[in-house]
Amino acid sequence: MRGDRIVQVWFGKRPRTFKTPTSRQAKGLAGRTILAVHRTGKHIVFELGSGASAAGAAAQQGDADANQATAPDAQWIVHLGMTGRLLVATPDAPVAPHTHARLDLASGNELRFVDPRRFGRLEFRNLRSSSDAAFEAPGAEPLTIGARAFAELFRQRHLPIKAALLNQSLLAGVGNIYADESLFQAGIRPRRRSHRLTATELERLRLALRQILTHAIRLGGSSVSDYVDADGERGFFQLEHCVYQRTGEPCRRCQTPIRRIELAGRGTHFCPTCQH
Ligand SMILES: [Zn+2]
Repeated sequence: MRGDRIVQVWFGKRPRTFKTPTSRQAKGLAGRTILAVHRTGKHIVFELGSGASAAGAAAQQGDADANQATAPDAQWIVHLGMTGRLLVATPDAPVAPHTHARLDLASGNELRFVDPRRFGRLEFRNLRSSSDAAFEAPGAEPLTIGARAFAELFRQRHLPIKAALLNQSLLAGVGNIYADESLFQAGIRPRRRSHRLTATELERLRLALRQILTHAIRLGGSSVSDYVDADGERGFFQLEHCVYQRTGEPCRRCQTPIRRIELAGRGTHFCPTCQH
């Protein structure tokens, strides 16, 4: 989508979906160019600039001007929630039920946000406005955090390690599936208190998280309910889950039936033999 321009915007009428009022989002998005799209924690962030023509003209005047003209001046922040999908479609593609946003792009494509259960959120930030700061995830990035910083995050916490992993202000972007799978991989029981984990265990957990997340991203994520990518394709990581939603099924390593408990309000799955 990089380089494409948002021509026109349509929003649905379900207020919960819109963290910023639809009138303000529509006004801010229309006419802006998508400079970049990236992930921060569990959020998808669109970096937006004010119009391709201004950037193009400045590019011919030299790099310094071009950098200034192509610096983002707004952001569109998308959280998929539980069932949200962000789809790139052609305008003639049938509009799915529960479509809450349609962005017409200069390329002729449409960007659509579909979300049956409406836990997803759309937010607009105008970075020129003094009231809007650039979006930052509150927690550390699990794919790049180093061993010492990781240990620091969890050493002081007295809550169960599973709950600490789900706390987005510590690590950003680890959800229920990946917390369960990483704890299995690291051989750590989800109820263990964070501050009681040894340095070796914490390092095993850090490496497990990185490996599981990287592998899951490569497989297109876990399509356990509605999740599909921008092309509408399902992910395949759910086929490799070792514990998540495998209650009563044999552990892939030791054949012990996988157990399920409630922890931090979430279904939590583990192998009582492989995890200590
Ligand atoms: Zn096992």
